Amino acid sequence: MAATIAYLDYNATAPIREAAARAVVEAMEVGGNPSSVHASGRRARKIVEAARGQVATLVGAKPMEVIFTSGGTEANNLALNALPFRRLIVSAIEHDSILAAAAATDADFVAVPVDRDGVLDLAALEAALAGCEGPVLVSVMLANNETGVLQPVREAAGLAREHGALVHCDATQAVGRIAVDMVELGADMLTLSAHKLGGPQGVGALIVREGLDVQPRQHGGGQEFGRRAGTENVPGIAGFGAAAIIALDEVARAGKIAALRDGLERQIKRSVPAALIWGEAVPRLPNTCCIGLAGVPSETQVMALDLAGVAVSAGAACSSGKVRPSHVLRAMGASPDAAASSIRVSLGAASTAADTERFLTAWIGLYARANRHGSAHAPAARRA
Ligand code: PMP
Repeated sequence: MAATIAYLDYNATAPIREAAARAVVEAMEVGGNPSSVHASGRRARKIVEAARGQVATLVGAKPMEVIFTSGGTEANNLALNALPFRRLIVSAIEHDSILAAAAATDADFVAVPVDRDGVLDLAALEAALAGCEGPVLVSVMLANNETGVLQPVREAAGLAREHGALVHCDATQAVGRIAVDMVELGADMLTLSAHKLGGPQGVGALIVREGLDVQPRQHGGGQEFGRRAGTENVPGIAGFGAAAIIALDEVARAGKIAALRDGLERQIKRSVPAALIWGEAVPRLPNTCCIGLAGVPSETQVMALDLAGVAVSAGAACSSGKVRPSHVLRAMGASPDAAASSIRVSLGAASTAADTERFLTAWIGLYARANRHGSAHAPAARRA
């Protein structure tokens, strides 16, 4: 990451850790197909199995429960199609790789609302579970990617179990930022993505509780215990393993990042009292700050900040480059204007006070200019 940029977009992707990049290169140098029986294949297999153990340790799972995938999106798709579910119950604020994957199945699909702070409505979840026949899956993310708001996954899992439903948790944004233990969460399946925790892009995992049979989506070879065919991405997996070791330590240092984020939010509110911090009243990830400044479109803010050398996101990064009003903020009761004019600042291991200062100077300048032109206004428009 260029030193001249204040990179504050860790929830989109975290800069790769040196040790992870090294592990990628070393695995490429080793070469070999892990399915080959000769020495070269055995060396590649050793790399994959070492990483499997490292990733399992990160979330309190067993190595054989780890299925390596091409990332969080594939892991989420695999989870939602693990069985021929009759009903899929997901939170309304899930990542698109859950919402679109759920809509693409034959199951009936219920999106459970969240409250104004962005927290899953457990009573609505219970109502959605009532009277369900056949295999049912509840999928609730651990931390929202736009607001950082933590979800009551353990309670949701308890309700799901009472109704005989299985539980999937998308922990993509939580891992490496807060402690995550799959057993403690009560999840049957857990999604991870390497690039959110300092590993390479294009690799992730679905952790599947021992004893649960998952229908493969890819057919072909017998890799990943027959649950995900295709020659393993050995360099990616090696980098994921190296990043997982670092991520375990990272959680212990989360207080430093939280202090930086909290200081930033104090200054935002002091300088621009009209600004909203989404999810501020409830437990959140230590690194995420989602700011509402109604009247100035998110894209305008992101572009102006980019020109000032500050990288942030307009809510969720969108592959097409087009930004829609955030479905997450809309689900929290934001008006279309407020939802389309919020930005996400997300910090990480290398973030400094100089980065947040640079953001503040640029963002306050933007606000002052918008105010002069009469376009910025208090997000009274919070509620639709
Ligand atoms: N789930 C969440 C909560 C995410 O934030 C993301 C990445 N934006 C994904 C899933 C998808 O992960 P990947 O980029 O590895 O496909």
